[in-house]
Amino acid sequence: MTRPLEARISASALAHNLALARQRAPGARVMAVIKANGYGHGLLRVAQALGAADGFAVLTVDEALALRAQGVAQPILLLEGLFSGTELAAARAHALSLVVHSAAQLEALETCGPGAALEVFCKINTGMNRLGFMPEALPGVVKRLTGAAAVKRITLMTHFACADEAGGIDPQLERFAHATAPYRLPRSLANSAALMSDPRTHGEWVRPGIMLYGVSPFAGRAGVELGLRPAMTLVSRVIAVQAVQAGERVGYGGSFEVPHAMRLGVVACGYADGYPRHAGTGTPALVDGRRTRLIGRVSMDMLCVDLTDLPSAGVGSAVTLWGEGLPVEEVAVAAGTIGYELLCALAPRVGVVDVS
Ligand SMILES: *Cc1c(COP(=O)(O)O)cnc(C)c1O
Repeated sequence: MTRPLEARISASALAHNLALARQRAPGARVMAVIKANGYGHGLLRVAQALGAADGFAVLTVDEALALRAQGVAQPILLLEGLFSGTELAAARAHALSLVVHSAAQLEALETCGPGAALEVFCKINTGMNRLGFMPEALPGVVKRLTGAAAVKRITLMTHFACADEAGGIDPQLERFAHATAPYRLPRSLANSAALMSDPRTHGEWVRPGIMLYGVSPFAGRAGVELGLRPAMTLVSRVIAVQAVQAGERVGYGGSFEVPHAMRLGVVACGYADGYPRHAGTGTPALVDGRRTRLIGRVSMDMLCVDLTDLPSAGVGSAVTLWGEGLPVEEVAVAAGTIGYELLCALAPRVGVVDVS
Protein backbone atom coordinates (compact mmCIF):
# COMPACT_ATOMS: atom_id res chain seq x y z
CA MET A 1 0.00 0.00 0.00
CA THR A 2 1.27 3.46 -0.84
CA ARG A 3 1.30 6.22 1.75
CA PRO A 4 -2.31 7.38 1.97
CA LEU A 5 -1.74 11.13 2.18
CA GLU A 6 -3.04 13.12 -0.80
CA ALA A 7 -4.25 16.57 -1.73
CA ARG A 8 -7.48 16.48 -3.74
CA ILE A 9 -7.88 19.50 -5.99
CA SER A 10 -11.35 20.27 -7.26
CA ALA A 11 -11.55 21.94 -10.68
CA SER A 12 -15.25 22.64 -10.23
CA ALA A 13 -14.62 24.39 -6.91
CA LEU A 14 -12.05 26.65 -8.60
CA ALA A 15 -14.48 27.43 -11.43
CA HIS A 16 -17.28 28.05 -8.92
CA ASN A 17 -15.13 30.50 -6.95
CA LEU A 18 -14.15 32.37 -10.12
CA ALA A 19 -17.82 32.68 -11.04
CA LEU A 20 -18.52 34.09 -7.58
CA ALA A 21 -15.71 36.64 -7.99
CA ARG A 22 -17.27 37.74 -11.30
CA GLN A 23 -20.69 37.98 -9.73
CA ARG A 24 -19.37 40.14 -6.91
CA ALA A 25 -17.46 42.45 -9.26
CA PRO A 26 -19.73 42.80 -12.27
CA GLY A 27 -18.15 44.84 -15.03
CA ALA A 28 -14.59 44.30 -13.86
CA ARG A 29 -12.18 42.00 -15.62
CA VAL A 30 -10.86 39.22 -13.41
CA MET A 31 -7.11 38.77 -13.15
CA ALA A 32 -6.80 35.41 -11.37
CA VAL A 33 -3.79 35.48 -9.06
CA ILE A 34 -2.04 32.13 -9.36
CA LYS A 35 1.41 32.93 -7.98
CA ALA A 36 3.14 30.51 -5.60
CA ASN A 37 2.25 27.50 -7.71
CA GLY A 38 -1.39 28.51 -7.73
CA TYR A 39 -1.36 28.98 -3.93
CA GLY A 40 -0.06 25.41 -3.68
CA HIS A 41 -2.70 23.88 -5.96
CA GLY A 42 -0.46 23.55 -9.05
CA LEU A 43 0.10 26.39 -11.53
CA LEU A 44 -1.00 24.71 -14.74
CA ARG A 45 -3.87 22.79 -13.15
CA VAL A 46 -5.27 26.00 -11.68
CA ALA A 47 -4.84 27.96 -14.93
CA GLN A 48 -6.79 25.26 -16.72
CA ALA A 49 -9.59 25.14 -14.16
CA LEU A 50 -9.75 28.95 -14.21
CA GLY A 51 -9.64 29.12 -17.99
CA ALA A 52 -12.58 31.55 -17.98
CA ALA A 53 -10.50 34.22 -16.23
CA ASP A 54 -9.69 37.38 -18.21
CA GLY A 55 -6.05 37.28 -17.17
CA PHE A 56 -3.58 35.67 -14.80
CA ALA A 57 -1.07 37.13 -12.36
CA VAL A 58 2.17 35.40 -11.40
CA LEU A 59 5.52 36.40 -9.99
CA THR A 60 8.16 35.17 -12.41
CA VAL A 61 8.85 35.04 -16.13
CA ASP A 62 9.30 31.27 -15.79
CA GLU A 63 5.76 30.85 -14.49
CA ALA A 64 4.44 33.06 -17.28
CA LEU A 65 6.29 31.08 -19.94
CA ALA A 66 4.95 27.81 -18.54
CA LEU A 67 1.44 29.24 -18.92
CA ARG A 68 2.08 30.42 -22.48
CA ALA A 69 3.53 26.98 -23.32
CA GLN A 70 0.28 25.45 -22.12
CA GLY A 71 -1.62 27.70 -24.50
CA VAL A 72 -2.80 30.40 -22.11
CA ALA A 73 -3.66 33.32 -24.40
CA GLN A 74 -5.00 35.81 -21.84
CA PRO A 75 -2.89 38.66 -20.45
CA ILE A 76 -0.34 37.44 -17.90
CA LEU A 77 0.82 40.01 -15.37
CA LEU A 78 4.18 39.82 -13.61
CA LEU A 79 3.27 41.14 -10.16
CA GLU A 80 6.72 42.49 -9.34
CA GLY A 81 7.65 43.29 -12.92
CA LEU A 82 11.05 42.43 -14.30
CA PHE A 83 13.79 41.47 -11.87
CA SER A 84 16.44 42.40 -14.42
CA GLY A 85 16.64 43.96 -17.86
CA THR A 86 17.54 40.60 -19.37
CA GLU A 87 13.95 39.43 -18.82
CA LEU A 88 12.56 42.09 -21.14
CA ALA A 89 13.16 40.12 -24.32
CA ALA A 90 11.11 37.18 -23.02
CA ALA A 91 8.38 39.54 -21.83
CA ARG A 92 8.19 41.04 -25.31
CA ALA A 93 8.35 37.74 -27.13
CA HIS A 94 5.45 36.37 -25.07
CA ALA A 95 3.41 39.55 -24.66
CA LEU A 96 3.60 39.59 -20.87
CA SER A 97 2.18 42.47 -18.87
CA LEU A 98 4.49 44.12 -16.37
CA VAL A 99 4.10 45.82 -13.06
CA VAL A 100 6.40 48.85 -12.98
CA HIS A 101 7.16 49.88 -9.42
CA SER A 102 10.68 51.30 -9.42
CA ALA A 103 12.90 53.85 -11.10
CA ALA A 104 15.13 51.08 -12.47
CA GLN A 105 12.19 49.32 -14.13
CA LEU A 106 11.00 52.60 -15.57
CA GLU A 107 14.43 53.32 -16.97
CA ALA A 108 14.68 49.85 -18.52
CA LEU A 109 11.47 50.48 -20.46
CA GLU A 110 12.71 53.87 -21.64
CA THR A 111 16.13 52.78 -22.78
CA CYS A 112 15.47 49.40 -24.40
CA GLY A 113 15.82 48.96 -28.13
CA PRO A 114 12.98 48.59 -30.62
CA GLY A 115 10.52 45.75 -30.18
CA ALA A 116 6.99 44.89 -29.16
CA ALA A 117 5.22 47.33 -26.83
CA LEU A 118 3.86 46.00 -23.55
CA GLU A 119 0.99 46.55 -21.18
CA VAL A 120 2.25 47.98 -17.92
CA PHE A 121 0.61 48.27 -14.52
CA CYS A 122 2.03 51.33 -12.82
CA LYS A 123 2.13 50.53 -9.12
CA ILE A 124 1.48 53.33 -6.68
CA ASN A 125 2.45 53.11 -3.03
CA THR A 126 -0.66 54.41 -1.28
CA GLY A 127 0.35 53.32 2.20
CA MET A 128 1.40 49.70 2.30
CA ASN A 129 5.00 50.85 1.86
CA ARG A 130 6.11 47.72 0.08
CA LEU A 131 6.29 48.40 -3.67
CA GLY A 132 5.38 51.36 -5.82
CA PHE A 133 5.93 55.00 -6.66
CA MET A 134 4.86 57.66 -4.20
CA PRO A 135 1.66 59.44 -5.26
CA GLU A 136 3.58 62.72 -5.64
CA ALA A 137 5.84 61.09 -8.23
CA LEU A 138 2.97 59.85 -10.37
CA PRO A 139 2.75 62.77 -12.83
CA GLY A 140 6.40 62.35 -13.77
CA VAL A 141 6.14 58.55 -13.95
CA VAL A 142 3.03 58.58 -16.15
CA LYS A 143 4.64 61.12 -18.45
CA ARG A 144 7.74 58.98 -18.86
CA LEU A 145 5.74 55.77 -19.36
CA THR A 146 3.57 57.48 -21.94
CA GLY A 147 6.68 58.49 -23.82
CA ALA A 148 8.37 55.08 -23.65
CA ALA A 149 8.19 53.24 -26.97
CA ALA A 150 8.13 49.88 -25.15
CA VAL A 151 4.86 50.78 -23.40
CA LYS A 152 1.55 50.13 -25.11
CA ARG A 153 -1.00 50.79 -22.37
CA ILE A 154 -0.86 51.95 -18.76
CA THR A 155 -3.09 50.68 -15.96
CA LEU A 156 -2.86 52.43 -12.60
CA MET A 157 -2.55 49.99 -9.73
CA THR A 158 -2.24 49.79 -5.98
CA HIS A 159 -2.43 47.09 -3.32
CA PHE A 160 -4.21 47.27 0.04
CA ALA A 161 -2.53 46.46 3.33
CA CYS A 162 -5.70 46.17 5.43
CA ALA A 163 -8.53 45.33 3.03
CA ASP A 164 -9.67 42.59 5.41
CA GLU A 165 -10.42 45.08 8.21
CA ALA A 166 -13.45 47.33 8.61
CA GLY A 167 -12.48 50.77 7.32
CA GLY A 168 -9.06 49.43 6.33
CA ILE A 169 -9.48 50.38 2.68
CA ASP A 170 -10.45 54.04 3.05
CA PRO A 171 -7.12 55.82 3.63
CA GLN A 172 -5.39 54.06 0.73
CA LEU A 173 -8.42 54.40 -1.53
CA GLU A 174 -8.52 58.14 -0.88
CA ARG A 175 -4.85 58.55 -1.69
CA PHE A 176 -5.23 56.47 -4.84
CA ALA A 177 -8.31 58.39 -5.99
CA HIS A 178 -6.59 61.72 -5.42
CA ALA A 179 -3.35 60.74 -7.18
CA THR A 180 -5.05 59.14 -10.18
CA ALA A 181 -7.88 61.68 -10.67
CA PRO A 182 -6.10 63.55 -13.51
CA TYR A 183 -5.77 60.44 -15.68
CA ARG A 184 -8.26 58.63 -17.84
CA LEU A 185 -6.50 55.32 -17.45
CA PRO A 186 -7.74 51.88 -16.36
CA ARG A 187 -7.39 51.02 -12.70
CA SER A 188 -6.67 47.91 -10.67
CA LEU A 189 -6.89 47.83 -6.88
CA ALA A 190 -8.83 44.93 -5.42
CA ASN A 191 -7.46 41.76 -3.87
CA SER A 192 -9.99 39.17 -2.63
CA ALA A 193 -10.90 41.09 0.51
CA ALA A 194 -11.52 44.36 -1.35
CA LEU A 195 -13.38 42.57 -4.15
CA MET A 196 -15.74 40.99 -1.63
CA SER A 197 -16.22 43.98 0.63
CA ASP A 198 -15.96 47.22 -1.34
CA PRO A 199 -17.27 47.85 -4.87
CA ARG A 200 -15.48 51.22 -4.91
CA THR A 201 -12.26 49.27 -5.45
CA HIS A 202 -13.35 47.25 -8.45
CA GLY A 203 -12.09 49.38 -11.36
CA GLU A 204 -11.17 47.72 -14.68
CA TRP A 205 -9.26 44.77 -13.22
CA VAL A 206 -9.82 42.95 -9.93
CA ARG A 207 -7.04 40.68 -8.67
CA PRO A 208 -8.53 37.91 -6.53
CA GLY A 209 -6.22 35.24 -5.19
CA ILE A 210 -7.18 33.44 -2.01
CA MET A 211 -10.92 33.46 -2.65
CA LEU A 212 -10.45 31.49 -5.87
CA TYR A 213 -9.12 28.65 -3.72
CA GLY A 214 -12.23 28.80 -1.54
CA VAL A 215 -10.57 30.43 1.42
CA SER A 216 -11.87 33.51 3.17
CA PRO A 217 -9.75 36.67 3.11
CA PHE A 218 -11.42 37.76 6.36
CA ALA A 219 -10.35 36.68 9.83
CA GLY A 220 -13.06 34.87 11.76
CA ARG A 221 -15.15 34.03 8.69
CA ALA A 222 -14.62 30.83 6.70
CA GLY A 223 -14.85 30.68 2.91
CA VAL A 224 -17.95 28.50 3.03
CA GLU A 225 -19.80 31.28 4.84
CA LEU A 226 -19.03 33.55 1.87
CA GLY A 227 -20.37 31.04 -0.65
CA LEU A 228 -16.92 29.76 -1.63
CA ARG A 229 -15.95 26.11 -2.03
CA PRO A 230 -12.59 24.80 -0.82
CA ALA A 231 -10.45 23.79 -3.80
CA MET A 232 -7.97 21.70 -1.82
CA THR A 233 -8.84 18.88 0.56
CA LEU A 234 -5.90 17.25 2.31
CA VAL A 235 -6.76 13.68 3.23
CA SER A 236 -4.95 10.73 4.77
CA ARG A 237 -5.66 7.67 6.88
CA VAL A 238 -5.05 6.26 10.33
CA ILE A 239 -2.04 3.92 10.05
CA ALA A 240 -1.83 2.76 13.71
CA VAL A 241 -3.88 2.87 16.89
CA GLN A 242 -2.58 3.16 20.47
CA ALA A 243 -4.49 2.60 23.69
CA VAL A 244 -2.88 4.78 26.35
CA GLN A 245 -3.42 5.05 30.08
CA ALA A 246 -3.64 8.06 32.38
CA GLY A 247 -0.22 9.52 33.14
CA GLU A 248 1.45 8.39 29.91
CA ARG A 249 2.84 10.93 27.47
CA VAL A 250 2.38 11.24 23.72
CA GLY A 251 4.79 12.27 20.99
CA TYR A 252 8.04 14.27 20.91
CA GLY A 253 8.81 16.13 24.09
CA GLY A 254 6.04 14.25 25.85
CA SER A 255 4.15 17.50 25.75
CA PHE A 256 0.73 15.86 26.06
CA GLU A 257 0.08 14.03 29.34
CA VAL A 258 -2.78 11.54 29.07
CA PRO A 259 -5.49 12.51 31.60
CA HIS A 260 -7.52 9.28 31.35
CA ALA A 261 -7.53 6.10 29.26
CA MET A 262 -7.60 7.15 25.59
CA ARG A 263 -7.45 5.68 22.09
CA LEU A 264 -5.16 7.50 19.71
CA GLY A 265 -4.95 7.26 15.94
CA VAL A 266 -1.62 7.82 14.23
CA VAL A 267 -2.15 9.63 10.91
CA ALA A 268 0.18 9.67 7.91
CA CYS A 269 0.77 13.42 7.69
CA GLY A 270 3.44 15.58 9.26
CA TYR A 271 5.28 18.85 8.96
CA ALA A 272 7.39 17.54 6.07
CA ASP A 273 4.12 17.42 4.14
CA GLY A 274 3.39 21.05 4.90
CA TYR A 275 1.13 20.41 7.88
CA PRO A 276 1.99 23.13 10.41
CA ARG A 277 4.14 21.95 13.30
CA HIS A 278 2.69 24.73 15.44
CA ALA A 279 -0.77 23.14 15.34
CA GLY A 280 -1.05 21.94 18.91
CA THR A 281 -3.31 19.67 20.91
CA GLY A 282 -6.91 20.56 20.12
CA THR A 283 -6.40 21.44 16.45
CA PRO A 284 -9.44 20.06 14.60
CA ALA A 285 -9.35 17.09 12.19
CA LEU A 286 -12.06 14.83 10.75
CA VAL A 287 -11.93 11.05 11.16
CA ASP A 288 -14.50 9.15 9.09
CA GLY A 289 -16.20 12.52 8.65
CA ARG A 290 -16.47 13.19 12.38
CA ARG A 291 -14.72 15.99 14.15
CA THR A 292 -11.94 15.25 16.58
CA ARG A 293 -8.70 16.88 17.65
CA LEU A 294 -4.94 16.56 17.40
CA ILE A 295 -3.05 15.23 20.41
CA GLY A 296 0.58 16.15 21.18
CA ARG A 297 3.18 17.48 18.78
CA VAL A 298 3.06 17.12 15.03
CA SER A 299 6.13 15.16 13.91
CA MET A 300 7.83 15.08 10.52
CA ASP A 301 5.73 12.33 8.94
CA MET A 302 2.92 11.68 11.42
CA LEU A 303 0.49 13.25 13.78
CA CYS A 304 -1.88 11.87 16.42
CA VAL A 305 -5.64 12.28 16.72
CA ASP A 306 -8.03 11.45 19.53
CA LEU A 307 -10.21 8.42 18.73
CA THR A 308 -11.54 7.96 22.28
CA ASP A 309 -15.07 9.04 21.32
CA LEU A 310 -14.93 7.39 17.89
CA PRO A 311 -15.00 3.67 18.81
CA SER A 312 -15.66 2.51 15.26
CA ALA A 313 -12.60 4.35 13.93
CA GLY A 314 -9.36 2.44 13.53
CA VAL A 315 -6.54 1.60 11.18
CA GLY A 316 -7.61 2.65 7.69
CA SER A 317 -10.10 5.29 8.82
CA ALA A 318 -10.22 8.30 6.51
CA VAL A 319 -8.81 11.52 7.93
CA THR A 320 -9.41 15.03 6.59
CA LEU A 321 -6.70 17.46 7.66
CA TRP A 322 -8.39 20.41 5.94
CA GLY A 323 -10.67 21.24 3.04
CA GLU A 324 -14.17 19.95 2.47
CA GLY A 325 -15.89 19.70 5.86
CA LEU A 326 -13.04 21.37 7.72
CA PRO A 327 -12.02 24.90 6.68
CA VAL A 328 -8.26 25.35 6.39
CA GLU A 329 -8.92 28.67 8.12
CA GLU A 330 -9.66 26.79 11.37
CA VAL A 331 -6.46 24.77 11.21
CA ALA A 332 -4.57 27.97 10.44
CA VAL A 333 -5.95 29.72 13.51
CA ALA A 334 -4.95 26.75 15.67
CA ALA A 335 -1.43 27.01 14.25
CA GLY A 336 -1.15 30.78 14.64
CA THR A 337 -1.11 31.46 10.92
CA ILE A 338 -3.42 32.05 7.94
CA GLY A 339 -4.92 29.71 5.35
CA TYR A 340 -2.72 31.22 2.62
CA GLU A 341 0.43 29.93 4.29
CA LEU A 342 -0.87 26.39 4.76
CA LEU A 343 -2.00 26.05 1.14
CA CYS A 344 1.25 27.47 -0.26
CA ALA A 345 3.32 25.23 2.00
CA LEU A 346 1.90 21.96 0.69
CA ALA A 347 5.07 19.89 0.17
CA PRO A 348 6.05 18.52 -3.25
CA ARG A 349 6.10 15.00 -1.80
CA VAL A 350 2.33 15.05 -1.29
CA GLY A 351 0.53 13.38 -4.16
CA VAL A 352 -2.04 15.53 -5.90
CA VAL A 353 -5.26 14.02 -7.22
CA ASP A 354 -7.60 15.87 -9.54
CA VAL A 355 -11.25 15.58 -8.61
CA SER A 356 -14.29 17.11 -10.22
C1 LIG B 1 -1.12 38.16 -4.02
C2 LIG B 1 -1.68 39.41 -4.57
C3 LIG B 1 -3.06 39.55 -4.80
C4 LIG B 1 -4.09 38.51 -4.35
O1 LIG B 1 -4.34 38.69 -2.98
P1 LIG B 1 -5.43 37.77 -2.21
O2 LIG B 1 -5.46 38.32 -0.84
O3 LIG B 1 -4.91 36.37 -2.26
O4 LIG B 1 -6.70 37.92 -2.94
C5 LIG B 1 -3.51 40.70 -5.44
N1 LIG B 1 -2.64 41.68 -5.79
C6 LIG B 1 -1.33 41.58 -5.57
C7 LIG B 1 -0.43 42.69 -5.98
C8 LIG B 1 -0.79 40.46 -4.94
O5 LIG B 1 0.51 40.39 -4.70
